[in-house]
Amino acid sequence: MESSKSIPAPAPPRELSRLAALLRYEILDTPDESAFDDFTQLAAYICDTPIALISLVDDHRQWFKSRLGLDVNETPRELSFCTYTIEGQGLFEVEDAQRDARFRDNPLVTGDPNIRFYAGAPLTSPDGYNLGTLCVIDRQPRQLNEAQRGALTRLSRQIMRLFEERLQAHRYAEQAALQQALLNSAASAMLVTTADGHISGVNPTAERLFGYSEQMLIGQPLTSALFPQEALQRRATILGIELGEPIEPGFAVLTAPLFEGRRETREWRLLHRNGSGVPVLLNISAIHDERELLRGYIVSAYDLAHQEHLQLRLQQIAAQVPGLLFQFCWRPNGDSSFPYLSEGVEDIYGLSAAEIEPSIGPIYARVHPDDREHVLASIRHAASTLTPWYFEHRIDHPRKGLIWVEARATPMRQADGSVLWHGLVTDITERKAEQLELDKQQEMNRRLLEALSEAVVACDADCNLTLFNHTARRWHGLDAQQIAPEQWPGVYHLYHADGVTPMCPEEVPLLRALRGEHIRNLEMTIVLHGTPRYVLANADPMYASNGQQNGAVVVLHDITERKQIEILQRDFVSTVSHELRTPLTSITASLGLICGRVMGEVPEHLQELLDIAHQNSKRLSTLIDDLLDIDKLYAGKMRFELRAQPLQPLLEQALRSNQGYAESHAVSIELRDCPAVSITVDAMRLEQVLSNLLSNAAKYSPAGETVAMSARLVAPQRVRVSVCDKGPGITEAFRKRIFGKFAQADSSDTRKQGGTGLGLAISKELIEHMDGEIGFDSSPGAGACFWFELPCHALNKAAQ
Ligand code: ADP
Repeated sequence: MESSKSIPAPAPPRELSRLAALLRYEILDTPDESAFDDFTQLAAYICDTPIALISLVDDHRQWFKSRLGLDVNETPRELSFCTYTIEGQGLFEVEDAQRDARFRDNPLVTGDPNIRFYAGAPLTSPDGYNLGTLCVIDRQPRQLNEAQRGALTRLSRQIMRLFEERLQAHRYAEQAALQQALLNSAASAMLVTTADGHISGVNPTAERLFGYSEQMLIGQPLTSALFPQEALQRRATILGIELGEPIEPGFAVLTAPLFEGRRETREWRLLHRNGSGVPVLLNISAIHDERELLRGYIVSAYDLAHQEHLQLRLQQIAAQVPGLLFQFCWRPNGDSSFPYLSEGVEDIYGLSAAEIEPSIGPIYARVHPDDREHVLASIRHAASTLTPWYFEHRIDHPRKGLIWVEARATPMRQADGSVLWHGLVTDITERKAEQLELDKQQEMNRRLLEALSEAVVACDADCNLTLFNHTARRWHGLDAQQIAPEQWPGVYHLYHADGVTPMCPEEVPLLRALRGEHIRNLEMTIVLHGTPRYVLANADPMYASNGQQNGAVVVLHDITERKQIEILQRDFVSTVSHELRTPLTSITASLGLICGRVMGEVPEHLQELLDIAHQNSKRLSTLIDDLLDIDKLYAGKMRFELRAQPLQPLLEQALRSNQGYAESHAVSIELRDCPAVSITVDAMRLEQVLSNLLSNAAKYSPAGETVAMSARLVAPQRVRVSVCDKGPGITEAFRKRIFGKFAQADSSDTRKQGGTGLGLAISKELIEHMDGEIGFDSSPGAGACFWFELPCHALNKAAQ
């Protein structure tokens, strides 16, 4: 009992390793195996004992893998004799347990199975752990002889070897199962062959891929079963040249490169059972045994049908893309290649598929010599910054001549340091030609604009000045400035036609055009360094092709010279008129006295001549008066005494004054309607206008007709006075000029009808000075209706 307690309770580290070694053999609690029983039989026989055991010592028990002469299959470890064997070295022998203090009280000694004799040889693993024992037991004391001891030790070693083999067999079985599982689940078809190329095994993928069952393939020569003969023949020829020795067009085609130390992965088109082609990527490896003897080959075939399908799809898409799709690879050592080029390579570079080498060489040679350096530099730049590459350049196309292309690609750095590009090259010759033509036209327009004697200024929709031609720069004294439109009048010295009133920003023609107005012949002034430049402004909005307004343009035409001549003429006419007026008044007055016989009788033969002289001097006076009026009006010297007064009396007075003149033309005048309104006018000036309209109407009316004068409200506070006749009306051609100075439809009028051609011009100025507007309606041949409109107020009854 003492001795049993001597077994250390906490297992020391070496004991833990021993237990681990025991577990590694996976033998505890396994069923009986005859191979082990043979050993116990042999041991009992050799040692002549009734009991023999193969005992494995666990942490708490000894378990018997084989037992002879004992019923139990395990006993507690503390009772175990074997524990002593495994703790020592070599054979452990107890001659008489009853006389051994360690076992005397052991229940196995005191009771069943009544052990007296024990001899155990340890089962020692190759790494030195005693896992258990081969022991023999007797019920009586005794001793083993040397031969028996030696046999027991040898048998124990054989048992250990059996353990090892058992473990190996397990491992092999596991390996084999794993390999089978791998083969079965491999995505590639796997075919195992003998060393001479006969199929010895295939996986399910191979069965599926080639349409054969494993049974059908096993034993068949691989190459004749699955390889097209002509493909083998082709490859054999090429290989023969490469390797410098003739190659049989059979299995050797696959194995010959291996003997040269080359591992080949090659595309093949193998044969399906139904005769169709199966595209595969083929790989072959030799299988050697542990003695480096060639046992066979394993051939893997990766199905490329899917890839081929994708490739086809890419080709079809690429064929739809105008131009060339490419994949280009640039390695760190400077080598380059095109892993993919679509068929567009002919269209862009004039290269046939056969001419395309894997390198950039032939393509680069097509680039126009002047562009080569730039193309390379731009590729390098994009590669170093990994930014998208875009470059327009010229290609010397063998069929099309010089073409322009646009190349764009995106670079991607690869794990091996190379740069892979995916890109597109398109022919842009047509677009380029249009562009060049456009550039040419633009350049011509620019030159034209610069050469123009007119100033041209344009702005965009956001009021940024976009064009300022040479003349504009000269006139304004500066170039286009990026300033707010409110500042334009000040910065560009813009004034009204009088040359003194500054323009408001909203009056600037360019801004008005930007608001959609069309400005025609607006007089204005640019006053640079105190010198006015009189100009006529024409401005229009500009529209984009989609109809949206995108800016405005103004053209300024210099009229300074004309303006100066006008001033000169006016001064001249004004001076002459003033000088003529006094003598003419006295001549007219004198002739009036003579013709009126105030100075006595005039001789008969002089009377007619004197009358003519009197008439003409009166006409001359009228002309001078008109000229002086015009002059005063233009010079702003005419004084207006504006007074609010009823309209009707003014019209009645005019009618009375012109009645006599009308009668002299056998025409009558009548006043028809007149609303009760008051107008604010200078009565004398209004009478002048009315007289002009009435006398014209009377003058141009056929004899016997009536001239109708009437007034009506055209708006609540606006009255229109009309004078209508039945004369010839105003011709289309004359309409525009009628209010101009010295305007007469027929220049013979002066003589025929009398008149100066100034009446309407003066009337227009007078009416406009009184805030009114003048105009006419006429259809030629159907009379004329001259009118003017003035602001008015309703008259209350009392005021009438
Ligand atoms: P004039 O002194 O010559 O009448 P105006 O300025 O009054 O000068 O008129 C200019 C010209 O307009 C006339 O010469 C004539 O040709 C035309 N005109 C004016 N009024 C009429 C009218 N009522 N009917 C036809 N023509 C007219």
